[in-house]
This record gives sequence, C-alpha cells and structure tokens, in this order.
Amino acid sequence: MQFLPPDAQSRSLSLRSNLLRALHPADLALLSPKFEKVQLAPRQVLYQPGDDIRHVYFPCGSTLLSFIIPLENGKDVEAALIGREGALGGIVSHGRLPAYARTVVHFEGPALRLECCELEKAKTQSLTLRQLFARYADCLLAQVFQSVACNATHSIEKRAAKWLLAAMDRTNDPTIAMTQEQLSGMLGVGRSYVARVIRTLKDRRLIDIGYGRFIVLDEEGLRHTACDCNELVNRHFNEVLKGVYPSGSNPSAPEDQALDL
Ligand SMILES: [Zn+2]
Repeated sequence: MQFLPPDAQSRSLSLRSNLLRALHPADLALLSPKFEKVQLAPRQVLYQPGDDIRHVYFPCGSTLLSFIIPLENGKDVEAALIGREGALGGIVSHGRLPAYARTVVHFEGPALRLECCELEKAKTQSLTLRQLFARYADCLLAQVFQSVACNATHSIEKRAAKWLLAAMDRTNDPTIAMTQEQLSGMLGVGRSYVARVIRTLKDRRLIDIGYGRFIVLDEEGLRHTACDCNELVNRHFNEVLKGVYPSGSNPSAPEDQALDL
C-alpha cells in the first residue's frame, strides 16, 4: 500500500466517494482532517478474518473492494462488493473488533481511510453523522441478505451477468479487468462451469473476452440476462440513502448534495 502525504486534495477526493458526498458538509468538515489518502493495489488484502479492524476504508472513484468468506474446502465465496457507494471496516461495530471476512482489493485506486476511533469520536459529536452511518449499515445488511438469497437460488449465468454489471456500474468502464479463474472464485463454482457460461454470453454477443479482462458489449442485453438482485439492492439504497448506489440508471450521486436526514 502506498501512503500519500496529507494535503488539501483529500476533501476533493472525498467527493469521489458517493457515501462521503452524502454527508452533511459540517460532518465532512469534522472528518476531513482525520482522513489519510491511500493508493490500493489489485488483490491487496486489507483484513484477514480475526485481524483487528483499525481503519475504515472509503473507496473513491472506480476503486472496488469485496468481502470474501474463506471456506474449509479452500474455496472463497464473495459476500459483497463495495465501491464508491460504501465503506469497509468498523462501520457497523463500535470500537476495535476482529474482522469476520477477508477483505480484498478487486480494482486498484485511491481510497480515504480513517482510524475507527476517530470515526467513533466524530459520531459522538454529530447526530446526523451517526444517522448516515446507521443508514449505510442498514444498506450493507440488505446487500448481504440479497447476496445470500442470490447464491442460494440464482443460476451461475444470472450471477455472472450480475457481477459483471455490478463491477461496470461502480467503475463506469465496460472493460473489467478479471480472469475467468478469478470470476469462478468470486462465484464459488468450478472454472470449467464458468468457462461454459462465459462462452454462452460471448456467443450471444453480450460480452467479449480479452487477456485477463471481460468487455461488456451489450449492456442492456446483459441486464436482461442478470438476476434482479442488484436492482433490488439499488431500490433499498434509494429509499435509505438516495443517490448513493451506483447503477446503470444512477451512475453517480448528485453533485455536492448532502442528504436531508
Ligand atoms: Zn441474484
């Protein structure tokens, strides 16, 4: 992880996080001096299960993180993708607690991080700050609930399409840097099965495959193929944190607009 010196840019970087952009300006001003800019590298592990959670990370721009649950059989299953709509580490809990999931960087990029104790201190000073993070915790829980239902019931094809769209919506880029092996790991299924599904999507000209990447050719067609799990989570975000969840119909949050909490 590359550490960058603190500078006035951390405030402008915070505008590339939909969640931080939703903060009341006074709350953002409270947190800004405590932010540290970090540059996250692909496949970097931020926390392993059992690690002490010391920092909250806010992915900015197209940076994409995920919660991974390592299973006893050596397989990993992804529980949730976290992009600029969210944060990772110590959001729900109070104080330092051990990490339950492994948290990994999917797509490199900048993030702002904050010591958990600084966030807790700020929460004691601001009701609107507490309310915003409580709302985000509710949205994250909804995301995980939906992920459980999706993994249990939806086909690999629908889940693969959903994952590619979730990545594209968060990065605003139809080219998604990921190998088939990584995608099969994310979906928790065998590589040969994922290869068959990818070939079907390619034959239908919904996607193309490059070296270590997927390219979305027909976004609308892919949305018709995907399950509606992203859309259901998007709807809940819109009820609770309007404009924060990145999706095809809502690629970014309103400029500099705080939520009326
Ligand atoms: Zn689903």
